Amino acid sequence: MTLDHAALEANLAASAERRLARYVDFLRIPSISGIPAHAPDCRRAAEWLAGELTAAGMEHAEVAETGGHPVVCADWLHAAGAPTVLLYAHYDVQPVDPLDEWELAPFEPLVRDGRILARGASDDKSNVLIAVQAVEAILAVAGRLPVNLKLVFEGEEESSSVHLDAWLKANRERLAADAALVADSGFFAGNAPAITVALRGICAAEIHVRGPFQDVHSGVYGGTIENPVNALAAIIAALKGPDGRIRIPGFYDDVAPLTDVDRAAFAELPFDEEEYRASLGVPALVGESGFTTLERRGARPTLDVNGIWGGFAGEGSKTIIPATAHAKITCRLVASQDPERVFGLLRDQILRVAPPGVAVEVVHIGGGHPTLTPIDHAATQAYARALEATFGRPPLYMREGGSIPVAASFASIVGLPVTVIGFMPPDGNFHAPNEWMDLANFEGGIRALARFFEEYAAAGA
Ligand SMILES: [Zn+2]
Repeated sequence: MTLDHAALEANLAASAERRLARYVDFLRIPSISGIPAHAPDCRRAAEWLAGELTAAGMEHAEVAETGGHPVVCADWLHAAGAPTVLLYAHYDVQPVDPLDEWELAPFEPLVRDGRILARGASDDKSNVLIAVQAVEAILAVAGRLPVNLKLVFEGEEESSSVHLDAWLKANRERLAADAALVADSGFFAGNAPAITVALRGICAAEIHVRGPFQDVHSGVYGGTIENPVNALAAIIAALKGPDGRIRIPGFYDDVAPLTDVDRAAFAELPFDEEEYRASLGVPALVGESGFTTLERRGARPTLDVNGIWGGFAGEGSKTIIPATAHAKITCRLVASQDPERVFGLLRDQILRVAPPGVAVEVVHIGGGHPTLTPIDHAATQAYARALEATFGRPPLYMREGGSIPVAASFASIVGLPVTVIGFMPPDGNFHAPNEWMDLANFEGGIRALARFFEEYAAAGA
């Protein structure tokens, strides 16, 4: 099925004002999933969305219970013989602190200079509404979609997706599709159209080091017992070499090596090392030898201490050997590392390098799987063509240092190839004060998604 793009354009132009008003309405709902007092707002956003989906012509729109904030889902399954697309986005948003750094009330959207400012304007309400409004326009113009479509909008992405995996497992059959689009990303630096082909996973742990039964006198006992803070420092120092390599036996075993094609894709990304360094206020960039900065960020695993505490840190001096010392550690993981396996390796190595004279405990805090998108999958390539046709340039393939665990869940639980898409501007202040969305990206996103449906239907799954 080919779309009449002139008719689609006319429809979108005629509805532009009304569509923007709906966007503003959506942004006015403070659906902060991480703050319990906003639970009714999350539900209100879900119900609002279900209404929009029905009005757009989607079928079986449902506010589905998860045990937490609901999932909103709907489908349209009348494209016989055409592939089925599952599209995911999330309607919940981050908290707004620090409020005094906002130049507007976060839930009273401001439209200015081609932008819309509000909490959630980009992440991720833009991608939610792009999908809804694309469907609405296509159905209004053509009466049918080129593909079968299942939409899933989550309400807990910003609070660790606590109930999503169980919901996906329980609904595996009704979510069956040929490809999943996880619409929770955006464009590359310079607002260049991009497809996120990899996301890092994570493994989080805490180290607890225990020495004497309480803080003791460093003169009376010093030199006769191990100091937990010294011991913790020795453990941490042993976990990484001066070459930036993580010194945990087996840690790199499952890391997918970079191919020449991968490295060429990295080299193609516009990136200014000096600007990156200066923006962070650091005297130099460092990392694993043999890799560029973008490769280190996108394709290599990490080990970082996120916090460390123990002993006396007040004013002046206090001559003690502390009883305990503690640290929080996270590893960012890349395909095909398994977070559980990495935790085991990390724990074993910490216990192996720990000096005698202290008791060491390593606690598993949590984890998430990395994802790597098959670039040559028909859906990814159809989406690339749609981006080029809409924005006038072929997309960049980027690997993000961060994590969207849900992308891995669609791959592992529902068994779908996942393409991570989205239209957020790269500097849209997600999770920060004065979040904004580029309205040209929003309008382009609707058209690109329409073209994707058309392209993917033509290419076949
Ligand atoms: Zn998001």
